[in-house]
Amino acid sequence: MKESEFYDPTKETMPVEERERFLNEQLREIVNYAYHNAPAVKEKMDSVGVAPSQIVTVGDLEKIPITRKDDFSELQKLNPPFGGFLGVPEIKEIYVSPGPIYEPEIPNAQYVAAAKALYATGFRKGDRAMVTVSFHMVPAGQHFAGAMEKLGITMIPTGVGNTEIQLQIMRDLKVSGYAGTPSFLMTLIKKAEELGYNFRQDFELRRALVGAEMLPESLRRTFEQDYDIRTQQIYTTAELLLLGYECSQKSGWHIPEEVLIEIVDHETGKQLAPGEVGAIVATPFNKIFPLIRYGTGDLSSINVELCPCGRTSPRLTGLLGRVGEEVKVRGMFVHPRQVKEVMAKLNQIAQFQVKVGRHKHRDVITINLELKDETVDKQQLTNDLAKAFQDVCRVKADEIEFVTRGTIPEEHKVIVDERIWE
Ligand SMILES: [Zn+2]
Repeated sequence: MKESEFYDPTKETMPVEERERFLNEQLREIVNYAYHNAPAVKEKMDSVGVAPSQIVTVGDLEKIPITRKDDFSELQKLNPPFGGFLGVPEIKEIYVSPGPIYEPEIPNAQYVAAAKALYATGFRKGDRAMVTVSFHMVPAGQHFAGAMEKLGITMIPTGVGNTEIQLQIMRDLKVSGYAGTPSFLMTLIKKAEELGYNFRQDFELRRALVGAEMLPESLRRTFEQDYDIRTQQIYTTAELLLLGYECSQKSGWHIPEEVLIEIVDHETGKQLAPGEVGAIVATPFNKIFPLIRYGTGDLSSINVELCPCGRTSPRLTGLLGRVGEEVKVRGMFVHPRQVKEVMAKLNQIAQFQVKVGRHKHRDVITINLELKDETVDKQQLTNDLAKAFQDVCRVKADEIEFVTRGTIPEEHKVIVDERIWE
């Protein structure tokens, strides 16, 4: 018998009309459940006078206010730890993402979604896969662990760093798969070459599921053509986990059946037509953390054309920026608010601007500073700033440059994203 190309053929290839029916049913069920079990959902629906019985189809969702990621940390502070969105009395694990935002582990539903993504990337039973994301604080590691267990893949959790040891593990254990960021995969390959290996011949790595940062097409070509590593992307958020995955067509991210995604006008919250760019709003179908209409702050559009791969789910067309001024750097969101918080600690600075660029497939953060007084101890200030920046933003600043007064215009963005993705 020919092996299926899908992890769950019944769901992934269901006819379009059936899919519509399926989504509406799932939606009715989760809205009704959340209303009666997650107080924050009841509160936001009551605030606009909408009862669960009024949510019959996806179009009806517009009646419910959006909960924005930007406000989520505050909401949780008011009603700790989950902001009133927890839908069950007991949970398995609690994770913490920057903000801080607390999120419960969502077993099964999210493992299934991730299993679909791994399967679509060619991972199969018997593979040995290195997982190079964190297993502490954030749920990413556990998410892959659950998915790999479902698929019968042997997982080697290695986290990031220790590149030489990771390469040894990769060789000793004949690792065939990789899950993590594209930049760390490149770091490993470069290190192997530095050590005199021919990566394509000396290693058996043939597939990579990457996420948490942009994958420029040029980098994908390098992985695939130079190193023979099939490379596909996922779109994940810590609170909702997996929202999209690429198939072999590598042309957009299929939305898994575990979640409903709307693209909306950021201002009005109204749903936009396929192809129109707007904010991503997700409603996951799980009773543990039923975030009905959660705005991730990412911009995208939806392609409803049927994909040649056979999956009937619509596809997100990639990430097209952020709603706010926030910028994602090396997998971490950096908000202008955080940068201002850092600068407020240092009173010698007159004006500042953060620039995010790209060098050798790595994000580079440069901070430009204008001083109130040129005679300050610049080395000391550089050290203090570097430390404060890392503490608050959880990423390291690469360069701190002093510029003459007047270089940074009076009206300026706090963070300028100068990266070009090609
Ligand atoms: Zn497809």
